[in-house]
Amino acid sequence: MSDLPFLAHGETYRRLDQMRLAGRLPHALIFLGPEGVGKQLVARHLAKALLCEKESSAPCGACRSCQQAAAGQHPDLWSLEPDGGRIKIDAIRELKKSLSLPPLVSKVRAVLIAEAHALNAAAANALLKTLEEPPPATYFLLASHAAGWVPRTILSRCQKVRFSPLPDPALAEILRAQGKALDPRRLRLAQGSARLALLLSEAPEEWPNLERLGGDAEPLGLDEAYALGQSLNEAERLTPYLESLLLEAHRRLCAESSAERRFALLTFAERILEFRREMRQNANPKLHLPRLLMFFKEPLESRL
Ligand SMILES: [Zn+2]
Repeated sequence: MSDLPFLAHGETYRRLDQMRLAGRLPHALIFLGPEGVGKQLVARHLAKALLCEKESSAPCGACRSCQQAAAGQHPDLWSLEPDGGRIKIDAIRELKKSLSLPPLVSKVRAVLIAEAHALNAAAANALLKTLEEPPPATYFLLASHAAGWVPRTILSRCQKVRFSPLPDPALAEILRAQGKALDPRRLRLAQGSARLALLLSEAPEEWPNLERLGGDAEPLGLDEAYALGQSLNEAERLTPYLESLLLEAHRRLCAESSAERRFALLTFAERILEFRREMRQNANPKLHLPRLLMFFKEPLESRL
């Protein structure tokens, strides 16, 4: 397996791995930190190590367990994903049914919940009882980039592991490995998120970022907005651009404490989502984009 995911989290992983080898790994962990910094990669790697047949050099990548896990077909590796934006109680009920039986292939069972903030109240409540009295040989590896939205009762039952934003050289290396690059100024805009860096590397460079759209630096004029709209030739270039704006707005929203700014960021995100829906219905981006860009200068000026 590539070392890339661990560029900045090697020490965190080693600490967890030592606990695993010593049989002291807590049965419920939650990885907390910004979106796109590698929490899920580390969680998945740790899950594979727990399930691997070669305890000391796990995950070996060669045993039956490692191969099943890599193919997404390991019967003892559970991954609970949001359905329609939320993880619902049905998913927890199904999981709990299997928890009453011993693991099928490996000595232990691992349950990944990558977006713990997506648990709805009923699902969180049902999961809580299991976290309080975990069944034998079962490890829960939760993660979230929005700790404030994870039910407190869930947070308090898990040992917290903090993940920091990735340093710029690590981001540059991740981009290089995928044949991509960003100049240092745009790399800084990614704020330590590999996901945002990858999106930015696909978005047209001449397009304004969130700072430019909503901040007070150098306002975007009507002529410029119109010219940008006209310069867009391929609709597929628009998608990574809009996603990079959404992700940046989302990351700020998670960290923002001012109610007024939160409202401005939410309005911003809603407008982008609406614009994206219009584009999917074959609206002409050359006509609509100047309108979208100008919209941000109006109600959001100096607020983001
Ligand atoms: Zn293995």
